Amino acid sequence: MLHLRKECEGAKSIVISGHIRPDGDCVGSCMAVYLYLKKIMPEADVRVCLEQPPEIFSCIKDFDKIDTEFQIDGEPDVFIALDCEKTRLGEAEAVFDRAKKTINIDHHISNVKGCGEVNYVVPEASSASELVFDVLEEEEMDMEIAKAIYIGMIHDTGIFQYSNTSPKTLQIAAKLIGYGFDFPALIDETFYEKTYVQNQILGRALLESIVFMDGKCIVSYVDRKTMDFYHATSKDLDGVVSQLRLTKGVECAIFMYEIDTLQYKVSMRSCKYVDVSKVASQFGGGGHKRAAGCTMNGTFHDVINNLSRYIEEQM
Ligand code: 5GP
Ligand code: MN
Repeated sequence: MLHLRKECEGAKSIVISGHIRPDGDCVGSCMAVYLYLKKIMPEADVRVCLEQPPEIFSCIKDFDKIDTEFQIDGEPDVFIALDCEKTRLGEAEAVFDRAKKTINIDHHISNVKGCGEVNYVVPEASSASELVFDVLEEEEMDMEIAKAIYIGMIHDTGIFQYSNTSPKTLQIAAKLIGYGFDFPALIDETFYEKTYVQNQILGRALLESIVFMDGKCIVSYVDRKTMDFYHATSKDLDGVVSQLRLTKGVECAIFMYEIDTLQYKVSMRSCKYVDVSKVASQFGGGGHKRAAGCTMNGTFHDVINNLSRYIEEQM
């Protein structure tokens, strides 16, 4: 177990960051560590830098303090990479490389050894946020830190539903809601609520989905033209793949959207036995057994053909 206060002892400058296209767990874990370190080390220069996260997470305290421009110069004493390995840090990777000490807290099975000098990587953990709870001192916990951790946990567990939810996950969640934040509202506002555009694009994706492998696989995609038509960004596509996965009879769902000409961001989800992280890692991606992603080149059909080969092996 890692003791965050001890690991940061004496540090004058600390930089916290997570993966590109930050999701709930990434934002929640980064902000929880930020709020905690600001509290216990008021003298230190603590910064959190991330690509612009979805606005739904603005309910987290100090969301507006996130540096989305990565304006960090010099060599920070400590760099903390959360919910990813170094190669997914995006612009923050250069800061990681300059840091005097690096800490990595993650739960991705594809992050085998951890990329820091000090690592706390537990693939069995529901979320990086769950691991953040372990490394903080409970007596320093407050409502705002608890809320940030809770948001991370609900997003990576689908509100404590996915198989990554363990008794420990729920024991931690029980402690967290004891801090008295409005958790039903938080679940609605950050998880279930969709904008009109998000619902429209979800509808399009469902309408145009195709099942194959005897109905065990489902795929859908959104091209640039459609995204432009709805003025949608990648943040508006969260949740589409989860909805596809719920199709009766489906084991594996694939959703992809065009990020460049003949280049797709692919998201995969599975129900019971297909390890989609293995499939994603064939194409330079990664993730977890039941949720993974990668970026692939080619036409829509090329991508499906390539993925199918590895999915079929597991069927
Ligand atoms: P999503 O489909 O929601 O983007 O991602 C599902 C899971 O796979 C998340 O845990 C995410 O961090 C991981 N993931 C998605 N894309 C990539 C990728 O390109 N590389 C790696 N290593 N992990 C990814
Ligand atoms: Mn995560």
